[in-house]
Amino acid sequence: MKDQINVTRSSMPEFEEYMAEIKELWDTHWLTNMGVKHKKFAKCLRNYLNVEMVTLLANGHLALECAIAAFDLQGEVITTPFTFASTTHAIVRNGLDPVFCDINEDDYTIDVEKIESLITEKTCAIVPVHLYGNVCDVETIEKIAKKYKLRVIYDAAHAFGVTVNNIGIGNFGDASTFSFHATKVFNTIEGGAVTYNNEQLKKTLYFLKNFGITGPESVEFVGGNAKMNEFQAAMGICNLRHIDAEIARRQIVFNRYCENLDGINGIKTLQPQPAVKSNYAYFPIVFCGKVNLRNVVFDELERNQIIPRKYFYPLTSDYKCYANRFDSNETPVAKNIAERVITLPLYPDLMLDEVDRICKIILNCSRNLC
Ligand SMILES: *Cc1c(COP(=O)(O)O)cnc(C)c1O
Repeated sequence: MKDQINVTRSSMPEFEEYMAEIKELWDTHWLTNMGVKHKKFAKCLRNYLNVEMVTLLANGHLALECAIAAFDLQGEVITTPFTFASTTHAIVRNGLDPVFCDINEDDYTIDVEKIESLITEKTCAIVPVHLYGNVCDVETIEKIAKKYKLRVIYDAAHAFGVTVNNIGIGNFGDASTFSFHATKVFNTIEGGAVTYNNEQLKKTLYFLKNFGITGPESVEFVGGNAKMNEFQAAMGICNLRHIDAEIARRQIVFNRYCENLDGINGIKTLQPQPAVKSNYAYFPIVFCGKVNLRNVVFDELERNQIIPRKYFYPLTSDYKCYANRFDSNETPVAKNIAERVITLPLYPDLMLDEVDRICKIILNCSRNLC
């Protein structure tokens, strides 16, 4: 029997490479609290992402939660419901009210034409999401933010290594947050970062992630604990050495999916964006025919030991924990896409003949039912 193929498979360095990287931790017994690995990784990362400043955190969610907290906001935050739970939760857990903007049909990011109509005197920020390795319309968002004096914090969890006109994606808005979770393009097992260009923000984020401690006998802020430890940082140092090769292999897999599925009636694939260097994080397809084949294809893939995911279904505005709070009919494009999308397996060492097999199952399904 064939092994099960999951939507993703974590990238890991050679065992010996990681062992060599963590060896000195046994000499120093310094396991966390911004040690040598933390410092080294932060430096490598700043370089790679081509950003001014970076703060490392325990995971991507805390990166977003702390980044939002750092601006001391009150009121309403405009965001999208077609995302992972983390985006909406981070807003709500900061005591803020999410206001959901619809997404656009082309790249599934926030529809910038619909943002202004949602702005009220309570609006304090926009939290857009760079989705699947695609990027938001950062220029228009910047214009709107300037006009209405709003903060912009990008959820860039999907956008590690992505550039727009050769500018690292972490340079837009007031801050951008990344996830280094095991399932992401780049991982530190668990981990995350905030990127920004603001000396004050650096201090605030430090206090937020380390109990607000300002000195050995001094605590000035009600911070939490969101520190990245030395083993995570060491994993990051190792994985960063191989990231370009990993993204290049992702691109080959991605292109193979395109060869099989581009131009097929009833199936919409992810289109490249002009001036954007993608990281090929995900391969979502949307079943856009009269009959919605999403669930049929999903079940058929599962029967063949292929486990795609419905990223992102349901919309966060439809979660049970938010019952009676939002109306997902107000974001009809997001609602429709959420009901029609599946994200196919995509990772650097996915074999191309497996990609062909996955596509064959999808195509057979669509042909038999259309
Ligand atoms: C993964 C992810 C997060 C959260 O990151 P973690 O590292 O898992 O905490 C936030 N937003 C989006 C869009 C994500 O995909």
